[in-house]
Amino acid sequence: MRWKTAEYKGWGRVLSARGDTARPERLATLKALWKETKAPAIGNLRSYGDAALNDGGKAIDMTRLDRLIAFDPDTGILEAEAGITIGEIARIFAPKGWIPTVLPGTGFATLGGCISNDVHGKNHKAGSFGQHVISFDLLGANGRVRKVTPDATPELFRATCGGIGQTGVILSAKIQLASIGSEVMDVRETRVENLTEFMALLDGSTAPYCVGWIDATAKGEHLGRGILEEGSVAYNAPPPKPKSAKSVPMNAPRFFLSSPIVRLFNQLYLRRIPVMGQRRIRAMQDFFFPLDKVLNWNRLYGKPGFHQFQCALPDGTAHEALVRMMDMIASSHLASPLTVLKRMGTGRAGMMSFPMGGYSFALDFPNGKAVAGLVGELEEITLQAGGRIYLAKDTLATPEMIAAMYDELPEFIAAVNAADPEHKFATDMVRRLNLRGTGK
Ligand SMILES: Cc1cc2nc3c(=O)[nH]c(=O)nc-3n(C[C@H](O)[C@H](O)[C@H](O)COP(=O)(O)OP(=O)(O)OC[C@H]3O[C@@H](n4cnc5c(N)ncnc54)[C@H](O)[C@@H]3O)c2cc1C
Repeated sequence: MRWKTAEYKGWGRVLSARGDTARPERLATLKALWKETKAPAIGNLRSYGDAALNDGGKAIDMTRLDRLIAFDPDTGILEAEAGITIGEIARIFAPKGWIPTVLPGTGFATLGGCISNDVHGKNHKAGSFGQHVISFDLLGANGRVRKVTPDATPELFRATCGGIGQTGVILSAKIQLASIGSEVMDVRETRVENLTEFMALLDGSTAPYCVGWIDATAKGEHLGRGILEEGSVAYNAPPPKPKSAKSVPMNAPRFFLSSPIVRLFNQLYLRRIPVMGQRRIRAMQDFFFPLDKVLNWNRLYGKPGFHQFQCALPDGTAHEALVRMMDMIASSHLASPLTVLKRMGTGRAGMMSFPMGGYSFALDFPNGKAVAGLVGELEEITLQAGGRIYLAKDTLATPEMIAAMYDELPEFIAAVNAADPEHKFATDMVRRLNLRGTGK
Protein backbone atom coordinates (compact mmCIF):
# COMPACT_ATOMS: atom_id res chain seq x y z
CA MET A 1 0.00 0.00 0.00
CA ARG A 2 1.39 3.39 -0.96
CA TRP A 3 1.35 6.34 1.39
CA LYS A 4 0.78 9.78 -0.05
CA THR A 5 2.17 12.86 1.65
CA ALA A 6 -0.19 15.81 1.39
CA GLU A 7 -1.78 18.68 3.23
CA TYR A 8 -5.43 18.14 4.19
CA LYS A 9 -7.88 20.35 6.06
CA GLY A 10 -11.00 20.28 8.19
CA TRP A 11 -14.16 21.53 6.48
CA GLY A 12 -13.75 25.04 7.92
CA ARG A 13 -10.27 25.24 6.29
CA VAL A 14 -8.78 27.01 9.30
CA LEU A 15 -6.93 23.98 10.64
CA SER A 16 -4.81 21.77 8.43
CA ALA A 17 -2.39 18.90 8.72
CA ARG A 18 0.47 17.59 6.64
CA GLY A 19 1.16 13.91 6.72
CA ASP A 20 0.95 10.54 5.02
CA THR A 21 -2.42 9.08 4.14
CA ALA A 22 -3.23 5.65 2.74
CA ARG A 23 -6.52 4.97 0.98
CA PRO A 24 -7.02 1.21 0.91
CA GLU A 25 -9.67 -0.24 -1.38
CA ARG A 26 -9.95 -3.63 0.29
CA LEU A 27 -10.10 -4.74 3.90
CA ALA A 28 -7.29 -7.19 3.17
CA THR A 29 -5.04 -4.29 2.10
CA LEU A 30 -5.87 -2.37 5.27
CA LYS A 31 -5.21 -5.41 7.45
CA ALA A 32 -1.85 -6.01 5.71
CA LEU A 33 -0.90 -2.37 6.20
CA TRP A 34 -1.93 -2.65 9.86
CA LYS A 35 0.87 -5.10 10.54
CA GLU A 36 3.38 -2.25 10.06
CA THR A 37 1.42 0.91 10.80
CA LYS A 38 -1.48 1.70 13.07
CA ALA A 39 -3.04 5.11 12.49
CA PRO A 40 -6.33 6.95 13.03
CA ALA A 41 -9.08 6.56 10.42
CA ILE A 42 -10.48 9.57 8.61
CA GLY A 43 -13.73 9.83 6.66
CA ASN A 44 -14.72 12.53 4.20
CA LEU A 45 -13.25 15.40 6.27
CA ARG A 46 -16.65 16.97 6.92
CA SER A 47 -15.74 17.75 10.53
CA TYR A 48 -14.96 21.45 10.64
CA GLY A 49 -11.86 21.52 12.83
CA ASP A 50 -9.12 19.02 13.63
CA ALA A 51 -11.16 15.95 14.63
CA ALA A 52 -9.83 14.11 11.57
CA LEU A 53 -6.36 15.68 11.32
CA ASN A 54 -3.07 14.11 12.33
CA ASP A 55 -0.35 16.61 11.58
CA GLY A 56 3.05 15.02 11.10
CA GLY A 57 1.56 11.55 11.50
CA LYS A 58 -0.30 9.04 9.37
CA ALA A 59 -4.01 8.55 8.70
CA ILE A 60 -6.15 5.90 6.98
CA ASP A 61 -8.59 7.43 4.50
CA MET A 62 -11.62 5.12 4.60
CA THR A 63 -13.55 6.53 1.63
CA ARG A 64 -12.76 3.69 -0.78
CA LEU A 65 -14.00 1.06 1.65
CA ASP A 66 -17.57 1.81 0.72
CA ARG A 67 -19.27 -1.45 -0.21
CA LEU A 68 -22.71 -2.66 0.78
CA ILE A 69 -22.46 -6.00 2.59
CA ALA A 70 -26.03 -7.11 3.34
CA PHE A 71 -29.56 -5.75 3.48
CA ASP A 72 -32.74 -7.28 4.86
CA PRO A 73 -35.75 -5.71 3.11
CA ASP A 74 -38.11 -7.04 5.79
CA THR A 75 -36.37 -5.42 8.76
CA GLY A 76 -34.45 -2.55 7.10
CA ILE A 77 -31.17 -3.70 8.65
CA LEU A 78 -28.20 -2.70 6.51
CA GLU A 79 -24.59 -3.76 6.82
CA ALA A 80 -22.00 -1.71 4.93
CA GLU A 81 -18.34 -0.78 4.95
CA ALA A 82 -17.57 2.32 6.97
CA GLY A 83 -16.43 4.53 4.08
CA ILE A 84 -19.81 4.63 2.33
CA THR A 85 -21.47 8.02 2.58
CA ILE A 86 -24.77 8.50 4.29
CA GLY A 87 -26.10 10.27 1.17
CA GLU A 88 -25.23 7.22 -0.94
CA ILE A 89 -27.12 4.96 1.48
CA ALA A 90 -30.14 7.29 1.25
CA ARG A 91 -29.87 7.42 -2.56
CA ILE A 92 -29.78 3.62 -2.90
CA PHE A 93 -32.35 2.69 -0.27
CA ALA A 94 -34.95 5.49 -0.40
CA PRO A 95 -36.49 4.04 -3.59
CA LYS A 96 -36.83 0.75 -1.65
CA GLY A 97 -38.62 2.60 1.18
CA TRP A 98 -35.76 3.01 3.68
CA ILE A 99 -33.41 5.79 4.78
CA PRO A 100 -30.87 6.10 7.63
CA THR A 101 -32.88 6.85 10.77
CA VAL A 102 -30.70 9.87 11.58
CA LEU A 103 -29.29 12.04 8.79
CA PRO A 104 -26.84 14.88 9.43
CA GLY A 105 -27.07 18.04 7.29
CA THR A 106 -24.61 16.69 4.72
CA GLY A 107 -24.86 13.48 2.73
CA PHE A 108 -21.06 13.48 2.30
CA ALA A 109 -20.41 12.24 5.85
CA THR A 110 -19.31 8.59 5.91
CA LEU A 111 -20.91 5.83 7.97
CA GLY A 112 -17.73 5.65 10.11
CA GLY A 113 -17.73 9.44 10.55
CA CYS A 114 -21.40 9.43 11.61
CA ILE A 115 -20.69 6.84 14.30
CA SER A 116 -17.50 8.55 15.45
CA ASN A 117 -19.27 11.87 16.03
CA ASP A 118 -22.59 10.22 17.00
CA VAL A 119 -24.31 12.70 14.68
CA HIS A 120 -27.81 14.08 15.13
CA GLY A 121 -30.43 15.03 12.56
CA LYS A 122 -33.52 17.16 12.07
CA ASN A 123 -35.61 14.52 13.86
CA HIS A 124 -34.54 14.98 17.48
CA LYS A 125 -37.12 12.50 18.76
CA ALA A 126 -35.28 9.66 16.98
CA GLY A 127 -32.16 10.23 19.08
CA SER A 128 -28.60 10.12 17.81
CA PHE A 129 -27.03 8.06 15.01
CA GLY A 130 -25.36 5.61 17.36
CA GLN A 131 -28.67 4.64 18.90
CA HIS A 132 -29.55 2.97 15.59
CA VAL A 133 -26.27 1.10 15.28
CA ILE A 134 -26.70 -2.62 15.95
CA SER A 135 -23.03 -3.54 15.77
CA PHE A 136 -19.74 -2.59 14.12
CA ASP A 137 -16.46 -4.33 13.37
CA LEU A 138 -13.60 -2.48 15.01
CA LEU A 139 -9.95 -2.99 14.06
CA GLY A 140 -8.08 -2.32 17.27
CA ALA A 141 -4.56 -1.25 18.19
CA ASN A 142 -3.76 -4.90 18.98
CA GLY A 143 -4.53 -5.88 15.38
CA ARG A 144 -7.69 -7.83 16.29
CA VAL A 145 -11.11 -7.18 14.77
CA ARG A 146 -13.88 -7.16 17.38
CA LYS A 147 -17.61 -7.15 16.84
CA VAL A 148 -18.82 -4.36 19.10
CA THR A 149 -22.45 -4.18 20.23
CA PRO A 150 -24.28 -2.03 22.79
CA ASP A 151 -25.15 -5.09 24.91
CA ALA A 152 -22.12 -7.39 24.73
CA THR A 153 -19.38 -4.70 24.78
CA PRO A 154 -21.13 -1.60 26.17
CA GLU A 155 -18.02 0.27 27.28
CA LEU A 156 -16.24 -0.08 23.94
CA PHE A 157 -19.47 0.76 22.13
CA ARG A 158 -19.96 3.93 24.20
CA ALA A 159 -16.32 4.97 23.82
CA THR A 160 -16.54 4.56 20.04
CA CYS A 161 -19.88 6.27 19.33
CA GLY A 162 -18.95 9.96 19.51
CA GLY A 163 -15.41 8.89 20.40
CA ILE A 164 -13.74 10.57 17.37
CA GLY A 165 -11.85 7.48 16.27
CA GLN A 166 -9.92 6.83 19.48
CA THR A 167 -10.75 3.14 19.92
CA GLY A 168 -9.67 1.97 16.46
CA VAL A 169 -10.84 1.81 12.87
CA ILE A 170 -14.51 1.03 12.28
CA LEU A 171 -14.39 -1.29 9.30
CA SER A 172 -18.11 -1.84 8.79
CA ALA A 173 -21.36 -1.39 10.66
CA LYS A 174 -24.84 -2.86 10.85
CA ILE A 175 -27.50 -0.14 11.20
CA GLN A 176 -31.27 0.01 11.45
CA LEU A 177 -32.77 2.06 8.63
CA ALA A 178 -36.14 3.82 9.03
CA SER A 179 -39.06 3.02 6.83
CA ILE A 180 -40.09 5.94 4.61
CA GLY A 181 -43.21 5.98 2.46
CA SER A 182 -41.91 8.11 -0.40
CA GLU A 183 -38.88 10.08 -1.57
CA VAL A 184 -40.81 13.33 -1.54
CA MET A 185 -41.04 15.76 1.35
CA ASP A 186 -43.90 18.06 2.20
CA VAL A 187 -42.21 21.11 3.73
CA ARG A 188 -44.02 23.85 5.61
CA GLU A 189 -42.05 27.10 5.97
CA THR A 190 -43.14 29.63 8.57
CA ARG A 191 -41.78 33.13 9.09
CA VAL A 192 -41.01 33.63 12.78
CA GLU A 193 -40.75 37.07 14.35
CA ASN A 194 -38.52 36.51 17.39
CA LEU A 195 -36.77 33.95 19.58
CA THR A 196 -39.60 33.38 22.06
CA GLU A 197 -41.99 32.57 19.24
CA PHE A 198 -39.34 30.41 17.56
CA MET A 199 -38.77 28.26 20.63
CA ALA A 200 -42.51 27.87 21.20
CA LEU A 201 -43.01 26.73 17.60
CA LEU A 202 -40.10 24.28 17.82
CA ASP A 203 -41.53 22.91 21.08
CA GLY A 204 -45.02 22.54 19.65
CA SER A 205 -44.08 21.10 16.27
CA THR A 206 -45.40 17.62 15.61
CA ALA A 207 -43.60 17.27 12.27
CA PRO A 208 -41.13 14.37 12.13
CA TYR A 209 -38.36 16.66 10.85
CA CYS A 210 -37.87 20.22 12.02
CA VAL A 211 -35.13 22.86 11.66
CA GLY A 212 -34.92 26.62 12.12
CA TRP A 213 -32.90 29.17 10.16
CA ILE A 214 -32.09 32.30 12.17
CA ASP A 215 -31.24 35.79 10.98
CA ALA A 216 -28.26 36.27 13.29
CA THR A 217 -27.93 39.95 12.33
CA ALA A 218 -31.33 40.90 13.83
CA LYS A 219 -31.53 42.66 17.20
CA GLY A 220 -34.06 44.10 19.66
CA GLU A 221 -37.64 42.99 19.05
CA HIS A 222 -36.50 40.98 16.02
CA LEU A 223 -33.80 39.04 17.89
CA GLY A 224 -34.05 35.38 16.92
CA ARG A 225 -36.33 35.91 13.94
CA GLY A 226 -36.09 33.46 11.07
CA ILE A 227 -37.77 30.64 9.21
CA LEU A 228 -39.04 27.38 10.67
CA GLU A 229 -38.98 24.41 8.28
CA GLU A 230 -41.14 21.42 9.17
CA GLY A 231 -40.89 18.38 6.94
CA SER A 232 -42.93 15.24 6.63
CA VAL A 233 -43.12 12.58 3.98
CA ALA A 234 -45.47 13.51 1.13
CA TYR A 235 -47.64 10.73 -0.22
CA ASN A 236 -49.07 10.79 -3.74
CA ALA A 237 -47.04 13.86 -4.71
CA PRO A 238 -45.12 13.69 -7.98
CA PRO A 239 -41.40 13.55 -7.18
CA PRO A 240 -39.73 16.86 -8.04
CA LYS A 241 -36.39 16.61 -9.82
CA PRO A 242 -33.59 17.05 -7.26
CA LYS A 243 -31.66 20.27 -7.90
CA SER A 244 -28.37 19.66 -9.66
CA ALA A 245 -25.25 20.52 -7.69
CA LYS A 246 -23.24 23.66 -8.51
CA SER A 247 -19.64 24.16 -7.50
CA VAL A 248 -17.88 27.20 -6.04
CA PRO A 249 -14.90 27.33 -8.41
CA MET A 250 -12.52 29.40 -6.28
CA ASN A 251 -12.04 31.18 -2.98
CA ALA A 252 -14.50 34.06 -2.68
CA PRO A 253 -13.11 37.56 -2.01
CA ARG A 254 -13.08 38.78 1.60
CA PHE A 255 -15.98 41.26 1.21
CA PHE A 256 -18.30 38.51 -0.04
CA LEU A 257 -19.57 37.69 3.45
CA SER A 258 -19.07 41.13 4.98
CA SER A 259 -21.60 42.38 7.51
CA PRO A 260 -23.71 44.65 5.19
CA ILE A 261 -23.97 41.91 2.59
CA VAL A 262 -24.99 39.29 5.16
CA ARG A 263 -27.60 41.67 6.62
CA LEU A 264 -29.08 42.33 3.19
CA PHE A 265 -29.00 38.66 2.21
CA ASN A 266 -30.77 37.67 5.46
CA GLN A 267 -33.52 40.26 4.96
CA LEU A 268 -34.19 39.05 1.43
CA TYR A 269 -34.03 35.40 2.48
CA LEU A 270 -36.57 36.00 5.23
CA ARG A 271 -38.95 37.91 2.96
CA ARG A 272 -38.91 34.99 0.53
CA ILE A 273 -41.49 33.46 2.85
CA PRO A 274 -44.94 35.10 2.75
CA VAL A 275 -46.34 36.28 6.10
CA MET A 276 -48.86 33.44 5.99
CA GLY A 277 -46.07 30.90 5.43
CA GLN A 278 -45.85 28.48 2.52
CA ARG A 279 -45.78 24.80 1.63
CA ARG A 280 -43.40 23.25 -0.83
CA ILE A 281 -42.90 19.78 -2.19
CA ARG A 282 -39.19 19.03 -2.19
CA ALA A 283 -36.98 16.16 -3.24
CA MET A 284 -35.79 14.30 -0.18
CA GLN A 285 -32.09 15.05 -0.59
CA ASP A 286 -32.79 18.76 -1.17
CA PHE A 287 -34.56 18.87 2.19
CA PHE A 288 -32.04 16.83 4.17
CA PHE A 289 -28.81 18.04 2.54
CA PRO A 290 -29.50 21.58 1.25
CA LEU A 291 -25.86 22.70 1.40
CA ASP A 292 -24.67 19.73 -0.67
CA LYS A 293 -26.22 21.44 -3.70
CA VAL A 294 -23.28 23.85 -3.62
CA LEU A 295 -20.11 21.77 -3.80
CA ASN A 296 -17.13 23.36 -2.03
CA TRP A 297 -19.37 25.97 -0.43
CA ASN A 298 -16.67 26.34 2.22
CA ARG A 299 -14.72 28.38 -0.38
CA LEU A 300 -17.31 31.15 0.03
CA TYR A 301 -15.39 32.18 3.16
CA GLY A 302 -12.25 32.81 1.15
CA LYS A 303 -8.78 31.46 1.76
CA PRO A 304 -8.71 32.12 5.54
CA GLY A 305 -11.68 29.77 6.04
CA PHE A 306 -14.26 29.90 8.82
CA HIS A 307 -15.09 28.67 12.30
CA GLN A 308 -18.32 27.08 13.36
CA PHE A 309 -19.69 27.41 16.86
CA GLN A 310 -22.30 24.81 17.82
CA CYS A 311 -23.70 24.32 21.28
CA ALA A 312 -26.42 22.23 22.91
CA LEU A 313 -28.37 23.96 25.68
CA PRO A 314 -30.71 22.38 28.22
CA ASP A 315 -34.39 23.34 28.26
CA GLY A 316 -34.36 25.35 31.48
CA THR A 317 -31.55 27.75 30.57
CA ALA A 318 -31.68 27.79 26.78
CA HIS A 319 -33.85 30.89 26.28
CA GLU A 320 -31.77 33.17 28.48
CA ALA A 321 -28.49 31.83 27.08
CA LEU A 322 -29.69 32.21 23.48
CA VAL A 323 -30.78 35.82 24.06
CA ARG A 324 -27.33 36.65 25.42
CA MET A 325 -25.57 34.83 22.59
CA MET A 326 -27.69 36.25 19.78
CA ASP A 327 -27.34 39.78 21.14
CA MET A 328 -23.58 39.40 21.33
CA ILE A 329 -23.39 37.91 17.83
CA ALA A 330 -25.56 40.61 16.22
CA SER A 331 -23.45 43.34 17.87
CA SER A 332 -20.21 41.69 16.71
CA HIS A 333 -21.12 42.06 13.00
CA LEU A 334 -19.33 38.75 12.47
CA ALA A 335 -22.29 36.49 11.74
CA SER A 336 -22.65 34.60 8.49
CA PRO A 337 -25.99 33.69 6.88
CA LEU A 338 -25.71 30.10 8.09
CA THR A 339 -27.31 30.03 11.52
CA VAL A 340 -29.40 27.09 12.68
CA LEU A 341 -31.60 26.47 15.73
CA LYS A 342 -32.95 22.97 16.34
CA ARG A 343 -34.78 21.08 19.05
CA MET A 344 -32.58 18.36 20.44
CA GLY A 345 -33.56 15.11 22.11
CA THR A 346 -31.93 13.43 25.09
CA GLY A 347 -30.71 10.49 23.00
CA ARG A 348 -26.96 9.94 22.86
CA ALA A 349 -25.03 6.74 22.34
CA GLY A 350 -21.57 7.52 23.68
CA MET A 351 -19.60 9.03 26.53
CA MET A 352 -18.53 12.00 24.39
CA SER A 353 -21.76 12.35 22.39
CA PHE A 354 -22.90 15.90 21.85
CA PRO A 355 -26.73 15.75 22.13
CA MET A 356 -28.64 16.74 25.26
CA GLY A 357 -32.34 17.38 25.76
CA GLY A 358 -32.98 21.01 24.78
CA TYR A 359 -31.84 23.03 21.78
CA SER A 360 -28.89 23.10 19.42
CA PHE A 361 -27.63 26.43 18.09
CA ALA A 362 -24.99 26.64 15.35
CA LEU A 363 -23.44 29.35 13.25
CA ASP A 364 -20.39 30.11 11.13
CA PHE A 365 -17.97 33.00 11.49
CA PRO A 366 -15.49 33.97 8.76
CA ASN A 367 -12.00 33.46 10.17
CA GLY A 368 -10.56 36.67 11.58
CA LYS A 369 -8.89 38.24 14.60
CA ALA A 370 -12.07 38.93 16.59
CA VAL A 371 -13.56 35.44 16.30
CA ALA A 372 -11.61 33.65 19.03
CA GLY A 373 -12.72 36.20 21.65
CA LEU A 374 -16.36 36.01 20.62
CA VAL A 375 -16.42 32.21 20.47
CA GLY A 376 -14.72 32.12 23.89
CA GLU A 377 -17.58 34.20 25.31
CA LEU A 378 -20.19 32.00 23.62
CA GLU A 379 -18.52 28.92 25.10
CA GLU A 380 -18.55 30.53 28.52
CA ILE A 381 -22.30 31.21 28.25
CA THR A 382 -22.80 27.62 27.12
CA LEU A 383 -20.91 26.32 30.12
CA GLN A 384 -22.81 28.54 32.57
CA ALA A 385 -26.08 27.33 31.04
CA GLY A 386 -25.10 23.69 31.61
CA GLY A 387 -24.63 23.04 27.89
CA ARG A 388 -21.82 21.73 25.75
CA ILE A 389 -20.17 22.41 22.41
CA TYR A 390 -19.85 19.94 19.54
CA LEU A 391 -16.41 18.40 18.89
CA ALA A 392 -17.26 17.83 15.20
CA LYS A 393 -17.41 21.59 14.73
CA ASP A 394 -14.78 22.84 17.14
CA THR A 395 -11.57 24.69 16.32
CA LEU A 396 -11.11 26.95 19.35
CA ALA A 397 -12.06 25.25 22.62
CA THR A 398 -9.62 24.57 25.46
CA PRO A 399 -9.06 21.32 27.40
CA GLU A 400 -10.55 22.93 30.53
CA MET A 401 -13.72 23.96 28.68
CA ILE A 402 -14.29 20.46 27.28
CA ALA A 403 -13.56 18.79 30.63
CA ALA A 404 -16.15 21.03 32.28
CA MET A 405 -18.79 20.31 29.62
CA TYR A 406 -18.35 16.55 29.18
CA ASP A 407 -18.78 14.89 32.55
CA GLU A 408 -18.02 11.39 31.21
CA LEU A 409 -14.58 12.48 29.95
CA PRO A 410 -12.72 10.54 32.71
CA GLU A 411 -14.56 7.31 31.75
CA PHE A 412 -13.81 8.01 28.09
CA ILE A 413 -10.11 8.54 28.78
CA ALA A 414 -9.93 5.29 30.75
CA ALA A 415 -11.75 3.32 28.03
CA VAL A 416 -9.75 4.65 25.07
CA ASN A 417 -6.43 4.38 26.85
CA ALA A 418 -7.25 0.74 27.63
CA ALA A 419 -8.16 0.13 23.98
CA ASP A 420 -5.17 2.03 22.60
CA PRO A 421 -2.45 2.19 25.29
CA GLU A 422 0.19 3.56 22.93
CA HIS A 423 -2.07 6.35 21.62
CA LYS A 424 -1.76 5.23 18.01
CA PHE A 425 -5.12 6.85 17.19
CA ALA A 426 -4.43 10.24 18.74
CA THR A 427 -5.25 13.16 16.44
CA ASP A 428 -4.64 16.90 16.49
CA MET A 429 -7.96 17.47 18.28
CA VAL A 430 -7.15 14.89 20.92
CA ARG A 431 -3.79 16.55 21.59
CA ARG A 432 -5.22 20.09 21.51
CA LEU A 433 -8.05 19.24 23.92
CA ASN A 434 -6.14 16.69 26.02
CA LEU A 435 -8.80 14.06 25.36
CA ARG A 436 -6.45 11.20 26.26
CA GLY A 437 -5.60 12.74 29.62
CA THR A 438 -1.88 12.92 29.01
CA GLY A 439 -1.47 16.65 28.69
CA LYS A 440 0.27 15.96 25.36
C1 LIG B 1 -22.68 20.94 5.68
C2 LIG B 1 -22.53 20.11 6.92
C3 LIG B 1 -23.65 19.84 7.67
C4 LIG B 1 -23.52 19.07 8.83
N1 LIG B 1 -24.65 18.82 9.55
C5 LIG B 1 -24.57 18.05 10.67
C6 LIG B 1 -25.75 17.74 11.41
O1 LIG B 1 -26.86 18.13 11.06
N2 LIG B 1 -25.60 16.96 12.51
C7 LIG B 1 -24.38 16.49 12.92
O2 LIG B 1 -24.33 15.81 13.94
N3 LIG B 1 -23.26 16.76 12.22
C8 LIG B 1 -23.33 17.53 11.12
N4 LIG B 1 -22.19 17.81 10.41
C9 LIG B 1 -20.91 17.24 10.87
C10 LIG B 1 -20.61 15.89 10.22
O3 LIG B 1 -21.76 15.11 10.11
C11 LIG B 1 -19.60 15.13 11.11
O4 LIG B 1 -18.45 15.91 11.28
C12 LIG B 1 -19.24 13.75 10.54
O5 LIG B 1 -18.49 13.07 11.51
C13 LIG B 1 -18.40 13.88 9.27
O6 LIG B 1 -18.15 12.60 8.75
P1 LIG B 1 -16.83 12.30 7.90
O7 LIG B 1 -17.01 11.01 7.23
O8 LIG B 1 -16.52 13.48 7.02
O9 LIG B 1 -15.76 12.15 9.06
P2 LIG B 1 -14.42 12.99 9.30
O10 LIG B 1 -14.77 14.39 9.50
O11 LIG B 1 -13.41 12.66 8.26
O12 LIG B 1 -13.97 12.33 10.68
C14 LIG B 1 -14.72 12.58 11.85
C15 LIG B 1 -14.19 11.74 13.00
O13 LIG B 1 -14.51 10.39 12.77
C16 LIG B 1 -13.35 9.57 12.81
N5 LIG B 1 -13.57 8.53 11.82
C17 LIG B 1 -14.01 8.67 10.55
N6 LIG B 1 -14.15 7.47 9.97
C18 LIG B 1 -13.80 6.54 10.90
C19 LIG B 1 -13.75 5.13 10.89
N7 LIG B 1 -14.08 4.39 9.84
N8 LIG B 1 -13.32 4.51 12.03
C20 LIG B 1 -12.99 5.21 13.14
N9 LIG B 1 -13.03 6.55 13.18
C21 LIG B 1 -13.43 7.21 12.08
C22 LIG B 1 -12.19 10.51 12.50
O14 LIG B 1 -10.99 10.06 13.10
C23 LIG B 1 -12.68 11.80 13.13
O15 LIG B 1 -12.36 11.82 14.50
C24 LIG B 1 -22.25 18.56 9.25
C25 LIG B 1 -21.13 18.83 8.47
C26 LIG B 1 -21.25 19.60 7.31
C27 LIG B 1 -20.03 19.89 6.47
